[in-house]
Amino acid sequence: MEERPAEPQEAPVIDLRQVVMPASASIADIAERAEVPPTDIIMELLNRGVLTTINAAIDRDTARAVMRNLGVAIVDEAEEDDVAPAATRPPERQDSAAPPDGEPRPPVVTVMGHVDHGKTTLLDAIRNTSVVDSEYGGITQHIGAYQVSVNGGAITFIDTPGHEAFTAMRARGAGVTDIAVIVVAADDGIMPQTVEAIGHAKAASVPIIIAVNKIDLETANPNRVLQQLTEHEIVVEDFGGDVVAVPLSALEGEGIDELLEYINLTAELEELRAPVDIPAEGTIIETRLDHSQGPVATVLVQRGTLKVGDTVTTGEINGRVRALFDESGGRLRSARPSTPVQVMGLDAMPEVGDPLNVIARQRKRRRQQSRTPARGSGDQAMRLSLESLAAQMTAGRLQQINLVVKADTAGSVDAVVKSIDQLGDDRARAMVVFEGVGSVSESDVNLASAAKGLVLAFNTRVDATAAAEAERQDIDVRIYRTIYELIDDVDAALKGSIKPEQVEVVDGRLEIRGEFRTERTRQIVGGMVLSGRVYTGAKVRILRSNEEIGTGHILTVRRFSDEVDEVRQGFDCGLAIETTTKIQLADIIEASHTEERLP
Ligand code: GDP
Repeated sequence: MEERPAEPQEAPVIDLRQVVMPASASIADIAERAEVPPTDIIMELLNRGVLTTINAAIDRDTARAVMRNLGVAIVDEAEEDDVAPAATRPPERQDSAAPPDGEPRPPVVTVMGHVDHGKTTLLDAIRNTSVVDSEYGGITQHIGAYQVSVNGGAITFIDTPGHEAFTAMRARGAGVTDIAVIVVAADDGIMPQTVEAIGHAKAASVPIIIAVNKIDLETANPNRVLQQLTEHEIVVEDFGGDVVAVPLSALEGEGIDELLEYINLTAELEELRAPVDIPAEGTIIETRLDHSQGPVATVLVQRGTLKVGDTVTTGEINGRVRALFDESGGRLRSARPSTPVQVMGLDAMPEVGDPLNVIARQRKRRRQQSRTPARGSGDQAMRLSLESLAAQMTAGRLQQINLVVKADTAGSVDAVVKSIDQLGDDRARAMVVFEGVGSVSESDVNLASAAKGLVLAFNTRVDATAAAEAERQDIDVRIYRTIYELIDDVDAALKGSIKPEQVEVVDGRLEIRGEFRTERTRQIVGGMVLSGRVYTGAKVRILRSNEEIGTGHILTVRRFSDEVDEVRQGFDCGLAIETTTKIQLADIIEASHTEERLP
């Protein structure tokens, strides 16, 4: 194992990001604290010749040396702990029952309506005309919500198809919507899902704006729509009621500005506000699996400010916000109320509609003052502990298959890893060096390659780049649909990897009855085969009074004057034996061969 040369002594420690760590921690934990992918840490260790797993613990010195390469300075937990005792610390989370009204916030709008009436077209049209210009080129991706700017103000649209999300959120008590826009196609009129949408909006007690869509069609009959609405107790302004109806063509972009204006007016009447300077509370709007980032959730922040580094909890899931992105892929440091934001760093896929809360930090902010690690000694300590780690892994003659496991959900990853852990024995075992949710990525393949292992993909796919890389590096990536097949395969591979034992099989015994010639490395002797057979090429052990006194092998076997291949029990023969042991009368020659047998 080659050690990498130590880092340059003049490494600029001051510039490193500081992360607090206890005396020892798992790689997963360190990755979370440092907001770096665990694979990076595992790779860094592999580069130093240490094979480890995401759940393995490493000590602080090791972490310090490894993380420095990843731009992170590890700081002792004790150093940061010298803060005021808990009782005298200021409360870090305000009582959520007593915050002031807070600051004005943008309205959150949900668009509902019957299928094919134009919800998607309308949402796309709004997004295209007014989406906040992004320095990232304005290429928006679907994240389940987006924000547009209208006359200096902002409006947040929930961009999820159908009523499912709305209902799912309402079912969980998350009233994320401030205003409901109900789209009705002017040619089609009120349909069953329009009625449903009206029901949802009314149940949520949110103001309704009617978008009478497709007015560009010849068959459009907006008036009929307005009339039909009265049957469902929606009385529009034209008919003396207070519901705004905006005629528009989502397809041609007509009437969109008016709709946005009405949304703003409605929002003003609602006087929407939320506290900003408290730990964030929000709702999961949409989730997706990113091939490299794992679970990514779009969260609508409702109160407070969500920040990178926050520890969050949603449903059964915890996490630490590793990064925040807007819908244009722009990185954010924080997100204020009514902002939809993609959150990376959750342990598993959360449920749409679940609330997300920031857990108040237990520690005071880490000290900004930099700590210079004892130079030289850090590397020394690392080497020692890395070596001991490596020694543990390769202890004995254990055969080990290294695996990178990827699966579709956190649940399946868990199931696969637990099953794999039960396989093998003290002769061979499978070691999961990395486990993760999502498709197989290039970095998974690289990791498997570095670990001289293979990738198991359970119910998930392999990225094109990962497949190409696997092909190039000749890494085995196996895809499974059932856990049984996967386990069978690993089990078979483990059994196949067990090194056979070399077993000596005794073929025959001969008693020495004559010594004919002795040379330095060769003796000619005669004897009688007591059992089995002696033959040319056999290995021999020379026994005297049942004790082995030497070894050698049979060069030739003669019967009378003829050279033969073998002589069997009950016959005399002459042997030329290559050995340095002086053979005497009455010694026993045991002929044998070695066989490979599975232990
Ligand atoms: P959704 O099911 O409510 O999301 O409806 P879509 O937005 O997918 O629209 C259904 C169909 O109606 C598509 O073929 C759209 O092109 C069309 N459509 C949507 N808005 C308009 C419009 O304003 N005018 C016309 N003529 N067609 C529209």
